[in-house]
Amino acid sequence: MKAVLVLVITWTVLVPEIVTTAQAAPAPASRVSVSYVPPKNPAHQPIYEQLQELRFLENLQEFLSPVRLPRMLLVKVEGCDDDANAWYENNEIIVCYEYIDQLWKTMPAETTAAGVAPVDALVGPLFDTCLHEFAHAIFDMLRVPVFGREEDAADQVSAYIMLHLGKAEARRLIGGVAYAYKTEVDAATAPLGMTQFADVHGTPAQRYYDVLCIAYGADAQLFGDFVEKGYLPKERAEDCKDEYRQVAYAYEQLIGPHIDTGLAKEVFDKSWLPDPAIRLPRRPGPAQPK
Ligand SMILES: [Zn+2]
Repeated sequence: MKAVLVLVITWTVLVPEIVTTAQAAPAPASRVSVSYVPPKNPAHQPIYEQLQELRFLENLQEFLSPVRLPRMLLVKVEGCDDDANAWYENNEIIVCYEYIDQLWKTMPAETTAAGVAPVDALVGPLFDTCLHEFAHAIFDMLRVPVFGREEDAADQVSAYIMLHLGKAEARRLIGGVAYAYKTEVDAATAPLGMTQFADVHGTPAQRYYDVLCIAYGADAQLFGDFVEKGYLPKERAEDCKDEYRQVAYAYEQLIGPHIDTGLAKEVFDKSWLPDPAIRLPRRPGPAQPK
């Protein structure tokens, strides 16, 4: 249990040749503050306590610190009145206890056939969501131009960062994220209605294929089994390298100049994830999926 949510993940040194010629003015090292808001729902009290014990937000704060933000960003976990969600708005990232609870309850009992360990089914999507919201903050605060839907771009930024961790960690995180989307797809009891395609986010199935594709495009060896096992259709896989390169170019051009490379190196050297064999206590709730 100890290391479950301790997400001290490395921040890769991205495109040093661009960073060294960065024009962005240095900002104070820490522009991210964090807050554990006591939950309104007593059922979330254990999550609240465990997150603090594990220094989840403090670790996230450290992980995000290499990005020079022009103003303070507050990241907080709080109760959201049964809304299992997370968002960025007005210089704040909110991650709801309900969302963490949902991830916890949908963890597989055992490592899946695709190789996703139970703990990674929680850590992967939670970390991805934090980075996704951080991407929204970056777009807003650094005035990063975005072509296409912002939600897709935020997913891409998150995946790009995760893919720059060590190979084993990248593999585990991407696997966890894919598991969460697939679980959402499988939980649907009826075909999606017309208006569900109007959502600003891609459908869970689309986001599932998108994250598999960017991972495969980044490293066809590490993620080769996605195609071999049929998780990612060959027709899509053919273009994933180009999709990845486009994301990499945008990230390096638009966000790279705002990264403090010295701080990034420090964070990079502290790379670690919890032991994948760790067993988490069950959260009370609906039956677990297969
Ligand atoms: Zn979003």
